[in-house]
Amino acid sequence: MIEKRQFYINGQWVDPIEGKDHHVIDPSTEEPCAVISLGGAKDVDAAVAAAKAALPGWMATPPEERIALVEKLIEIYQARGEDIAQATSIEMGAPIDFSRTQQVGAGTWHLTNFVKAAKNFKFIKPLGDHAPDNRIVYEAVGVCALITPWNWPMNQVTLKVGAAAIAGCTMVLKPSEESPLNAMVFAELMHEAGFPPGVFNLVNGDGMGVGTAMSGHKDVDMVSFTGSTRAGIAISKNAADTLKKVHLELGGKGANIVFADADDKAVKRGVLHMMNNTGQSCNAPSRMMVQAEIYDKAVEIAAEVANSVIVGSAHESGKHIGPVVNEMQFNKIQGLIQKGIDEGARLVAGGPGRPEHLNRGFFVRPTVFADVTPEMTIAREEIFGPVLSIMKFETEEEAVQMANDTVYGLTNYVQSQDGERLNRLALKLRSGMVEMNGRPRGAGAPFGGMKQSGNGREGGLWGIEDFCEVKAISGWADVAAE
Ligand code: NAD
Repeated sequence: MIEKRQFYINGQWVDPIEGKDHHVIDPSTEEPCAVISLGGAKDVDAAVAAAKAALPGWMATPPEERIALVEKLIEIYQARGEDIAQATSIEMGAPIDFSRTQQVGAGTWHLTNFVKAAKNFKFIKPLGDHAPDNRIVYEAVGVCALITPWNWPMNQVTLKVGAAAIAGCTMVLKPSEESPLNAMVFAELMHEAGFPPGVFNLVNGDGMGVGTAMSGHKDVDMVSFTGSTRAGIAISKNAADTLKKVHLELGGKGANIVFADADDKAVKRGVLHMMNNTGQSCNAPSRMMVQAEIYDKAVEIAAEVANSVIVGSAHESGKHIGPVVNEMQFNKIQGLIQKGIDEGARLVAGGPGRPEHLNRGFFVRPTVFADVTPEMTIAREEIFGPVLSIMKFETEEEAVQMANDTVYGLTNYVQSQDGERLNRLALKLRSGMVEMNGRPRGAGAPFGGMKQSGNGREGGLWGIEDFCEVKAISGWADVAAE
């Protein structure tokens, strides 16, 4: 079994001050695969002190040098991609091929996009011709606490660390206790890339212990958090006493509106997107809303596609989906599937229990419910598993109303061949992102939500800006012209 009890503080691996052993469970086998330590408030103090001491030097480091270190990090990250893929696969259950391409690939993509954005970013810029002696300065927020989830672990770590480092912030990362191993490999890469001691620190722990100590710490200037809305609320409340900046990326309940004029592949695409990463994506299109004219056909296709999705061990190569992350999620998803049945939704694929060929591991059957109505629990709660809810609508107005009838607002999707309608809906849907006809967001587009999906924007230029304070300066001397 892997034993990794140390934390990375001030440029070295150190023993925890208040460590408690914690087993990381492989969800494909339900067996422990590693032991780590869960730290406490004293470990957070040590890491925050290191980050605070490193801040003046790192802020004063020219942006080009900070960017060059992130470029070096990308090289090393690519060279050690297999180590990250293996760690991710074993601890959170992403099938190994998916882990190599999608989970690890997401990290390369974000870091590369940050470098591109940063090279064109002016950290000091004029306000405008009307005020020639004014300058607007983008300055590091300071010491940042980065708290990440397990579902797309390296995606989240790189979105936060890459942007914070380029902005000139120093940081303490607390990865999810469900998926700490990939983040510990990442800390080795930060070390190898040559980031100065204290710029990046890692402390493992759970939310109640280390997470709470970080969000309430007097020397932390900003918390950047990705995870559940429940934890986002707890963090916001705990951070309020020190009035730190709180950046939140939370849950979602995305609508995928399929109009009668959608392309032939729209339903299949929507189901596969829902099942991707075993349904454990905050931006999953979990409510498929289908126009009445094509509803019956869409339900039939959705059931066929879900039945064709193969479920299997994360250790095996192939295009299957893996288990869900842990027993708690497994039980929560099983409970919601049962609730769907009890509240009168029509089960057309999957259902309760494990797939027949698997009797161990947190495996869930790819499940589709039809005739879901807006008040049902499965239409309202984030399930975070491979479970799709199909709902019927008649008119465009009704579809918009249903899509926006949620506390969340992360990503919505529209499938139609009517360009005017696409653009109309893009502006009416209350979410941080709207994606049409399966078109992906471009490199450097901001990722983030509205309402209870959060308030931050990650990725590209917007991601860097979120780790900056904006400073207005008047009377800037035009030294070059003197
Ligand atoms: P979670 O909220 O339980 O945990 C996320 C992280 O927060 C973990 O590191 C955990 O230890 C920590 N944490 C938990 N309670 C805390 C507290 N009170 N104070 C400080 N830290 C605390 O979420 P999860 O189960 O790991 O992840 C799944 C959730 O994350 C889903 O709701 C999903 O939608 C959301 N998510 C959102 C995005 C996004 O960008 N919007 C991306 C990925 C996941």
